[in-house]
Amino acid sequence: MGSCKNSDKVAVITGASSGIGRACAFRFSGEGYSVALVARRSDELLAVAEEIRSKGGKADVFPGDLTDEKQIEELVERIVATLGGIDVLVNAAGVIANGTIENTSTEDWDHLMNINLRAPFHMLRCAVSHLIARKGNVVNVSSVNGQRAFPNVLAYCVSKAGVDQLTRCAALELAGKGVRVNAVNPGVTRTHLHLSSGMTEEEYRQFLERSKSTHPLGRVGEPEEVAELIFFLASDKASWITGE
Ligand code: NDP
Repeated sequence: MGSCKNSDKVAVITGASSGIGRACAFRFSGEGYSVALVARRSDELLAVAEEIRSKGGKADVFPGDLTDEKQIEELVERIVATLGGIDVLVNAAGVIANGTIENTSTEDWDHLMNINLRAPFHMLRCAVSHLIARKGNVVNVSSVNGQRAFPNVLAYCVSKAGVDQLTRCAALELAGKGVRVNAVNPGVTRTHLHLSSGMTEEEYRQFLERSKSTHPLGRVGEPEEVAELIFFLASDKASWITGE
């Protein structure tokens, strides 16, 4: 495992304990990156790191709650002190919750904004000088919900639309400093996102079944398929793509 080409590069991946972030951890480490794994559950992060190391990859865990600004600052400092810098930042941590304009509580709104939008903003702001130093790049995990309106996921849709605009604004501001910023906007992907939001196993089964007709290719995506696009956007092959 591992390619010499990226052996001196560091990828910071939030949400690395599950789903798309976890798949990114394997994809980047498989290409030689040293990966910094960020999420709240240290047991899950350690299990991912152990699996990566067992395949010859390099992984370190940095547990933390990304709704806490202070923890983000300390995390970034520790990552740079341990690994020497940051080449790629993948902001994958996120949550979803149901709610309409009539019944979304301010508390739910704030929670979704904090983790889905404020955390990527603050991660990027803390990491930006390190990214500039290495002419690195960022991939934010947004959603199809950032581009289209869907009923009963109001705060989620607004938070992801914010991620798209954060991506475009930061891309414009950082382009001259050699830092690219892009986002991916996946459709339904088989991860723990919906079950974590309180959907039962049966509701999730029905949701996946319904998703066959709402997705033109007749199925939902797998986290590895999203990680593939994220890896492409972070790679030199995408050297002329920013703000997308
Ligand atoms: P998962 O639930 O599988 O993973 C979510 C990740 O976010 C976990 O690693 C979780 O780790 C982390 N996380 C949640 N809250 C916090 C927090 N407060 N601090 C630190 N980490 C946190 O879902 P996905 O992999 O699907 O989600 C990844 C991203 O993909 C999200 O931004 C989501 O919105 C987006 N997305 C998902 C789609 C899907 O259908 N699955 C479709 C489109 C976009 P821990 O619990 O250990 O903290």
